[in-house]
Amino acid sequence: MKLLLVEDEDAIAEPLAEGLRREGFVVERVATGEAALAAATPDLVLLDVGLPDTDGLSVCRELRSRSGVPIIMVTAKGEEIDRVVGLELGADDYIVKPFGFRELLARIRAVMRRTSERAATQRHARIGPLEIDERGRRARVDGRELELTPKEFDLLALLARDPGAVVSKAEILQEVWQTTWFGSAKTIDVHVAALRKKLGDPSWIQTVRGVGMRLHVPDE
Ligand code: CA
Repeated sequence: MKLLLVEDEDAIAEPLAEGLRREGFVVERVATGEAALAAATPDLVLLDVGLPDTDGLSVCRELRSRSGVPIIMVTAKGEEIDRVVGLELGADDYIVKPFGFRELLARIRAVMRRTSERAATQRHARIGPLEIDERGRRARVDGRELELTPKEFDLLALLARDPGAVVSKAEILQEVWQTTWFGSAKTIDVHVAALRKKLGDPSWIQTVRGVGMRLHVPDE
């Protein structure tokens, strides 16, 4: 597992990097925010808030805007505000200096576990009799495999990420067609009609007039 350690103080960074390597991590250590943003995306980031060139919070915000990489913020005692802001900016956890190495390891493992559980549920969803495997791009209803076009699959997978929640047409266009051109909203209707037919029950996809669509398990 590749870990990016962003820490400007050698006295902290060096023993920490060494300890993490002994635990089997591949550690890349950088000392500035700029270097952190230039580094290849790792599997986890350990990010000090107090950096010499920029603050760790803006680094956190920028990293989060690029990827879902797990981030653990490292704050100094008394920087309570940083913790709250860090979590709001998308950090997964925080740890307060000085911390014990065992405590840090436990935090890293907990964050990795949460992240992989989250990824697994996103990849494989079961909604009533509907089963969606995003990695394998397969969908089944009552065990029957659906023959879907790539866009039909993307649309169904998007609705299935939060069953019952209304997804706006603008969001569908953005996510499935990567466009914001509203003239293409008719395209959605065509795909929804095809999906309803393939799902075998039109009530699977409900239209919320003037708002968008939602996935709904048909009543037995
Ligand atoms: Ca520092």
